[in-house]
Amino acid sequence: MTKEEALKTYFGYDAFRGGQEAVIDALLAGGNALVIMPTGAGKSVCYQVPALLLPGITLVISPLVSLMRDQVTQLVQMGVPAAFLNSSLTFKQYLLALDRARAGRYKIIYVAPERLETEGFRSFAEHADISLVAVDEAHCISQWGQDFRPSYLNIPAFVASLPKRPAVGAFTATATPDVKEDIERLLALKEPLRITTGFDRENLYFEVQQPDSKKAALLELVKGRPGKCGIVYCATRKNVEEVCGFLRERGVSATRYHAGLEAEERRQNQEDFLYDRAQVMVATNAFGMGIDKSDVRYVIHYNMPKDIESYYQEAGRAGRDGLPSSCILLYSGQDVRTNEFLITHGELREGMDAATAERLQERDLQRLRRMAGYCRTRHCLRQYILQYFGESAPDCCGTCYNCLHNFEEVDVGREARTIVACVAELNQAFGVGIVAETLCGAETDKVRKYHLDRERSYGALRELPQKEVRERIRFLLDEGILTLSPGQYPVVRLGERAEDIVRNGPALWMKTVRDQRPAPSRKEAPGELDGPAAELFGRLRALRAGIARRQGVPAYVVFTDKTLREMALCRPGSLQELQAVSGVGAAKAERYGRQFLAEISAFESGGYS
Ligand code: ADP
Ligand code: ZN
Repeated sequence: MTKEEALKTYFGYDAFRGGQEAVIDALLAGGNALVIMPTGAGKSVCYQVPALLLPGITLVISPLVSLMRDQVTQLVQMGVPAAFLNSSLTFKQYLLALDRARAGRYKIIYVAPERLETEGFRSFAEHADISLVAVDEAHCISQWGQDFRPSYLNIPAFVASLPKRPAVGAFTATATPDVKEDIERLLALKEPLRITTGFDRENLYFEVQQPDSKKAALLELVKGRPGKCGIVYCATRKNVEEVCGFLRERGVSATRYHAGLEAEERRQNQEDFLYDRAQVMVATNAFGMGIDKSDVRYVIHYNMPKDIESYYQEAGRAGRDGLPSSCILLYSGQDVRTNEFLITHGELREGMDAATAERLQERDLQRLRRMAGYCRTRHCLRQYILQYFGESAPDCCGTCYNCLHNFEEVDVGREARTIVACVAELNQAFGVGIVAETLCGAETDKVRKYHLDRERSYGALRELPQKEVRERIRFLLDEGILTLSPGQYPVVRLGERAEDIVRNGPALWMKTVRDQRPAPSRKEAPGELDGPAAELFGRLRALRAGIARRQGVPAYVVFTDKTLREMALCRPGSLQELQAVSGVGAAKAERYGRQFLAEISAFESGGYS
């Protein structure tokens, strides 16, 4: 079988994506490869296709139990003999799986790094014919990476102990030079093929909002996407609880995930989301690595993450099936200060000396500044991200929020001086909200309580809506003309540049949204299907849900949304036509083909054409 045949027969795909073919060739030739591809680019195919063609077994080393189960389920559905060895098996199940592996029953075995050191596994590996070792999430080997896992350091010794050196492939979505270097050195990859595919994900839409109320903004976003799956990332467990409760009260089918929950509840909630029983997953960053749900239509960040790497990895969980999906970040200045605090007050990592710790902290603060820069830029968001990862990109992608809106620059010099005067008058003792209320001449309890209506600047910006006054205050904060005190209830203070503004009265140009630019209409899938195709798509989804439920697997493991959409549009009439649909391999065509063909034909004879 050729690699093209393997791709078609098992995966149901017609062509390789960028980079996949080169990696497969290198591994088939027994060489090494270091593969850096963004989430959703298709890393798994890079080692699963060689695994099918090589004579021996392929070991996939992967950090996450949930990921393994999922991947193995998918492989088995495609007709590939596969198994996993990890802590979710009982000892008896484990021994049984090892026996079968010894008997050559599996082509692909997923294994947790901790297993490599155990006696039973070692003795198995010594006598097995291992052709390929694929290291998934390879950045876990580097202490510069975000998810350092000490057990990954055992991989090189394990590989060296094998009777015959297998091909070794390392896969990650993290591209920073430190980490790349560590992976190559620690895994002893000799002259590896180095593949870094473009980081752009064309189907993702990016937007940053700086709302007055994050909850209201979130609710609007979620309610505006009925029937679609989304993830809402929060910075803390407390936020997860609060936001999840809030959404549920408003009738959203939401569930939650964070490290503070019992393992059983975490498993259950994750499954509810994967199996479409809950539409929205509210989670900390503990959720997601290895989550392979391909039809997540949006990822909303309720808090700004600590760096662009984390952001892009989390946001990238949207739209893995290649259909249009949204990544929206709800930003507030407080997010920056919280992250700053966490970085400067973080615990020392085990065995790390003070100089290294300081270097790490400086690096983290630098990354945080770049992340905050993303939230404030008025230029193309996609370009900002791609440039961060060292790629060149056009000035305007034409599809992100910033590219879809016209901004205008207004001179806010006069207003800035009024605001600075007000902050000084209030003795630098109040937060953004009260300063804005005072300037707008609002009649609120706080204003009365502190007699702010007696101040000279009371009502000085009466002609502007409060929202715009707050926008100007935030702009002055970004410019360093004002600052916020640290702590839970930050108050507005005069910044370094305040004096210059008052004394010299320069013009201050602030960019603000004027209107929306006419843009090619883009909708999130499956919205763009309409008429009979949309109806058929709905019926195929219902059929899929029933099959998935009976088998106890997530729906996308049967067929992805993308595959069902294509079926709804092309309406195949025979098994052969069905197999021409992307994502329908031989095993799935045989297993499910008749049911889907019957549904399509019933739909057609129902009077639609
Ligand atoms: P990664 O591990 O890089 O995040 P995956 O391996 O999960 O990405 O692949 C993402 C999606 O793209 C999966 O649904 C996968 O089946 C699909 N895919 C991978 N390669 C191809 C291809 N050559 N043609 C079409 N779809 C592909
Ligand atoms: Zn853009």
